[in-house]
Parts: sequence; C-alpha cells; structure tokens
Amino acid sequence: LTVLGMESSCDDTAAAVLRHEPGTAPVILANVVMGQAALHAPFGGVVPELAARAHAEKMDLAVEQALAGAGLSLGDLDLVAVTAGPGLIGGVLAGVMCAKGIAMGAGLPLVGVNHLAGHALTPRLTDGAGFPYLMLLVSGGHCQFLLVEGPDRFTRLGGTIDDAPGEAFDKTAKLLGLEQPGGPAVEREAARGDAARFRFPRPLLDRPGCDMSFSGLKTALIRSRDQVMAGRGGLTRQDRADLCAGFQAAVADVLAEKSRRALAECTARGLRPTAFAVAGGVAANQALRLRLTEVAGDVPFLAPPLRLCTDNGAMIAWAGLERFRAGGTDGMDLAARPRWPLDRQSPSLIGSGR
Ligand code: ATP
Ligand code: FE
Repeated sequence: LTVLGMESSCDDTAAAVLRHEPGTAPVILANVVMGQAALHAPFGGVVPELAARAHAEKMDLAVEQALAGAGLSLGDLDLVAVTAGPGLIGGVLAGVMCAKGIAMGAGLPLVGVNHLAGHALTPRLTDGAGFPYLMLLVSGGHCQFLLVEGPDRFTRLGGTIDDAPGEAFDKTAKLLGLEQPGGPAVEREAARGDAARFRFPRPLLDRPGCDMSFSGLKTALIRSRDQVMAGRGGLTRQDRADLCAGFQAAVADVLAEKSRRALAECTARGLRPTAFAVAGGVAANQALRLRLTEVAGDVPFLAPPLRLCTDNGAMIAWAGLERFRAGGTDGMDLAARPRWPLDRQSPSLIGSGR
C-alpha cells in the first residue's frame, strides 16, 4: 500500500509518502517538512493564528512536493492519513480539511491519526519493533512514558506534571540569550561546560512512580544566572556553557532515573519489553541518548533518526497504515481535536474524532 501522511499540529507543515507491503520493510519515498521557525521567531514562541494560516497556505505545496519527490501522482495512492489531534486546533483543522479534499477528490480512504500515536509507533516504522515496547516521548510539548502493546493499545506510565523538557531547553536558551530552538543550542554550549559548577534540582526523584517535573529547573536556572550576573554584571561564554551543562545534566538525570522506573514497571506488570525507544525532538540530545542507553541495559535501545524523531508526515502515514490495516477509516465528518489523550481511546473511537 502507498500512503500519503500529513501533519500540521504544531509548527511544521509536513507531508510524506510511504510504501509498505507486509513482510517487507516500509520505504519512505518522500518526507517533506516545511518548518515555520522564521515565521514565529520574532514572537519567541509559536503563534497559533499565524501557524494555522501558514499550514493552510503551505499544505498543498508540501503534498505536491512529497508526491513529486516520490515520483507519484494522486492516482498512485491507496490511503490518505492525517493528524486529527492533539495540537493547535487551527493547524490541525487546516491539515484535516486539506486531507478531506484530497481523499474526496481522488476517491481514497481517509484515516485520522493521533499525533502521539504517530510518535509512539515510529520505532515500528524505523526498526520493526515488536509489541510490547516502552516508549519515552520527549518533545517540545510532551513528556511521557508509554507502554505500547498494540497499534491502538497505549498505557501511560507517567509523564511531566508541568513543562515538557523541550520547552525547558527552549526557555533556558531564551534566558541565556541563545538562539531558538533552544535544544541544539543548549546542547552545543553544554558540551564545553562544567556540569558540576551549578547544582540544579532533580525534581520528584524522591517520589515513587514515573511522573516528572521540569518547571522548577527554569526557576533554578534564573536564580543561578542572576547570581552570576549580580556579581559580574554579565555572563561570560564559560558561565553560559556551565549553566547549560548543569541544566542538561539535571534533565538527563531525571529522565534516566524515571526511565529505569518505567522499565521496572513493565517487569512488575509481567511484561518483557522488546525495546526501549525514544521519540520527540529532545531525543536528538546525544548526552541524553547515552544515559538512556545505559539505563536500557539488556533491552535494545531504539532512537530513530532525528528527522523521524521530530514532527513529520512519515510517522503519520505509518500510524495511519497500521490503523487502516486494523479496519479503521474515517468519513468526511472526521473532526479536528485540540485534546486527545492516547490512553483513553476505545478501539472503535481511534481516529474517529468523535
Ligand atoms: P510536540 O511534537 O510535542 O507537539 P514539538 O513539535 O515542539 O512538540 P518536536 O518537534 O518533537 O516537538 O521537538 C522540538 C523540541 O525538541 C524543541 O523544544 C527543541 O528545543 C527540542 N530539541 C531539539 N534538539 C534538541 C537537542 N539536541 N537537545 C535537547 N532538546 C532538543
Ligand atoms: Fe510531535
């Protein structure tokens, strides 16, 4: 089957064409991602209204480019898959509308995909991961442990109670005058820094379970930064690097320890995960990957390539295909949903948008 996948839930307009025949490895024929970083840069964050407009303007082009890249036309497709939530509602709507138009015009079946399911099923696309596996989804908007037991069976073992780590990386960069997105900038600085100079808290490690908190790190960072600034009137390059290193070490410590607990939780439930996988933009962080590899121990650690870790159409095409094969399709009444928790969907409702 050849699937078009479309994604527009945040600040990337993405379209991909994926082909898969059972018993073979899936092939990503094209994977177009049009970021909106420049559009939102002056505002220091994603402006939902601007994002929605840009998605509406660019989605057609993204789809055209994906088809051209794959050397295919609409008539070669078997299925249209689109993110139907959760996310910024204007953007999700723009994608869903465009997908409906294509599905109707080309006479193709349509499936709505949960964006988080797209991330969570990525290890199956990239590594053929078998069920069950443990997934740490760690991005700009999300942070959660998911036990994935089937294409529509997700159990949330814990997650952040406030900020997502990517958000914390972005805020840290902003507070230190580094460019956005903050993750890569902070990681670069941290590589030259001394993580021991500033001691940041490791929130919630004293409590059982897999829940996490990252908002306190920001407060701690502001305090340390202001202390240095008060003493010296400004930050040196080394101060910045040390602050980044201290912050990144704290995030990695928390995620590593909670990952250890999430793996233990799988065992406690009598399950042997086939893999421990990460997804989301923060999974690009090399220091973090190293820590998580250690924690995984004997369990294979899977970290998809970065372009499939961050928002993309290929993961939506794949999740849509899995759902389609399980018998799911949507009609022209497919709704866009701003909120859509992964673990509270009964199979009959997955992707239906109702
Ligand atoms: P979501 O997918 O949850 O809706 P999003 O679109 O913001 O949110 P992604 O595109 O998956 O998330 O990831 C972007 C986030 O990843 C940003 O917050 C960015 O700072 C962070 N990030 C990217 N690279 C790194 C890195 N090397 N280290 C840490 N964080 C990183
Ligand atoms: Fe995402």
